[in-house]
Amino acid sequence: MRLLKSVVLSVAACCLVQVSAVTTLRADQKTGTLDIYFIDVEGGAANLIVTPEGESLLIDSGYPDNQGRDLNRIIAVAGEVAGLKRIDHAMVSHWHLDHFGNHAALAAKFGVGTFWDRGIPDSLSEDPGFPDRIAAYRAASQNQSKALQAGQLVPLKSGKTPLSLKVLCASREAVVGEGPENTFAARHQPQPDDPTDNSASIAVLLRFGEFRYVTCGDLTWNMEAKLVTPRNPAGRIDLFMVTHHGLAVSNNPALVLALDPVAAVMCNGPKKGGAESTLKTLREVQSMQQWFQLHRNVDLDGSLQAPAEFIANSVPTADCQGQWVLARVAPDGASYTIQIGSDGKPHSFRTRSEH
Ligand SMILES: [Zn+2]
Repeated sequence: MRLLKSVVLSVAACCLVQVSAVTTLRADQKTGTLDIYFIDVEGGAANLIVTPEGESLLIDSGYPDNQGRDLNRIIAVAGEVAGLKRIDHAMVSHWHLDHFGNHAALAAKFGVGTFWDRGIPDSLSEDPGFPDRIAAYRAASQNQSKALQAGQLVPLKSGKTPLSLKVLCASREAVVGEGPENTFAARHQPQPDDPTDNSASIAVLLRFGEFRYVTCGDLTWNMEAKLVTPRNPAGRIDLFMVTHHGLAVSNNPALVLALDPVAAVMCNGPKKGGAESTLKTLREVQSMQQWFQLHRNVDLDGSLQAPAEFIANSVPTADCQGQWVLARVAPDGASYTIQIGSDGKPHSFRTRSEH
């Protein structure tokens, strides 16, 4: 009984801490920042963007099942931390279960406005469960999901500081003839073509004033090169979501070095992604000041990874609390901070002016 009482007390204390931290974040949000959350879904992806106009876009929704682990983490960040009442736009980068595992459940439990994807294929050879999963998605979106193509702008409201979200590639088609010439194009060493849906991933460029953020889903090697050859349509950017959880079949230096991000966040799991070769490429990026990892790669020497203070979660999945990372861009787009969790230290970065 005494044990039960102490458990109840410590849970209550935990909740109090949580509420006070959340209040701080909400107050800050009224100041017109652009907030980009990287929610930990143990090696899947769930990237929540909240604009100064209060619009929300969730790109990918983690794994299904696991007693609602990823669903609950997304709802906790969206509802309690970001203070949202619903998700206005929910995008699927590609049709793998670690990316659209909870779109249907989110629509039922939290609310989703518009569904965006790359178009729904008739079948997916790598996933025998696809017909059932896609039936749930179709039902949740009432068959009204909108297919995105390269070059298209996703209609987000823009305020005093101009904001835009452009599709750089989708369904293996990329925008062409835009941006500076890629001086790293020769770094592409072709690999066998990837027939899976990874190579069909949607990549987007988010611009807010001078600030630029790129996320490419699970785009793989040859498509990454295609996206930035001969021209790089994103230019040099500020923030990069390391592609495909940091796996070695993605993060082609021809793309990563051309984007030349100042900061990056890798959505890896304890035993998925965070590959040694990817970390080597990040270290080679000329303008890179710091990358963050959602997880420590438990199988890789610590000296090859980000220092511990830039790693959100260091324990295996079974014990993981699912700490998130937030990039918060100032209302004028001229600077940003990146922090781990509500109480994490904000690390400051200045937005680059030359792209
Ligand atoms: Zn994935």
